[in-house]
Amino acid sequence: MRKSERSAAKGELLLRCHLCPHLCELRKGDFGRCGVRQNMDGAIRLPFAGHVATIALDPIEKKPLYHYMPGHQVLSLGFLGCNLACRFCQNWTISQSVKEAPSSPPKALSALELVGLLDQYAATGCVGVAYTYSEPVVWYEYLMELGTAVKEAGYHNILVTNGFINARPWKDLLGVIDAVNVDVKGFTEAFYQDVCDGSLEPVVRNVEAAVTAGLHVEVTYLVIPGGTDDPATFLAFAKWLRSLDPNIALHLNRYYPNYRMSVPPTPKKTLLKLKEKAMQELNNVYLGNIWVPGASDSYCSNCGQRLVRREGYRTQNEGLTALGNCKRCKTESGIILRRNPRKGER
Ligand code: SF4
Repeated sequence: MRKSERSAAKGELLLRCHLCPHLCELRKGDFGRCGVRQNMDGAIRLPFAGHVATIALDPIEKKPLYHYMPGHQVLSLGFLGCNLACRFCQNWTISQSVKEAPSSPPKALSALELVGLLDQYAATGCVGVAYTYSEPVVWYEYLMELGTAVKEAGYHNILVTNGFINARPWKDLLGVIDAVNVDVKGFTEAFYQDVCDGSLEPVVRNVEAAVTAGLHVEVTYLVIPGGTDDPATFLAFAKWLRSLDPNIALHLNRYYPNYRMSVPPTPKKTLLKLKEKAMQELNNVYLGNIWVPGASDSYCSNCGQRLVRREGYRTQNEGLTALGNCKRCKTESGIILRRNPRKGER
């Protein structure tokens, strides 16, 4: 990452953080908009690095990742803070906690301890770590340290992110990440600016960069009534994803009121309508945060054979060969059943 730069304004020495598009200019002692990076001792630092907010063993489907190592577990690490301020945030108690709410005390976790936990849980089907819950990328240096140790130990690194980070650190981060889910909050600049305190363009660029780099990429989109459910905008979003890869897995999630947004939950019929629209462009569109029989299952794009059945976070391989092809017509599904992260396979 480019070094933080110094500038003098009103006679005061400011440091600029180049990690995300906010490019915060910080006076001595100031924290950035993410609430975790600070101008400290003449550099931008993470005063609480070495600590995580939560640790939990989760099904990989919960991230959500449906096309990567289905049926396995990952050790989820949650971090305080976020560089966006989405009014509908479902994880605001940790993402915004450093800014405005009390939080539970962070837990110390070194890279060595993390690898020790992975060794301990490997027998239960745990294949790696998911950096998740709020926004991991603002912990960039700590993330790189953990991710490098995890990869060297032969485990998978999974990133669940808003994708709001500058191009250079994103490129470097992708070097240690095996699979990513990017939460695209909406598909207009106005929505990002008015509701999320961010911008869309860097997110679009970063999803494209991850696909180009050959990473396993899935995308989440929260359908908010009156916010992100406009059919024309949604169609443009689906067409953009198609231009990247028609097999990309898109998770359409139901919104529930939370944090600073109180509009009622997304109607089921809106989700079904948008799913149908997206399926005109994409082969794999799933509904989340709502139970609709069959809406979370994977089907062969060629012959329609059900490949994976999902109920809640339980998965059952019904129609995949060991190589991830359709058992009936042998078409490649794009679902990765196994991979050795140590070999850096893409
Ligand atoms: S990562 Fe944090 S400190 Fe750095 S520019 Fe973004 S919001 Fe500001």
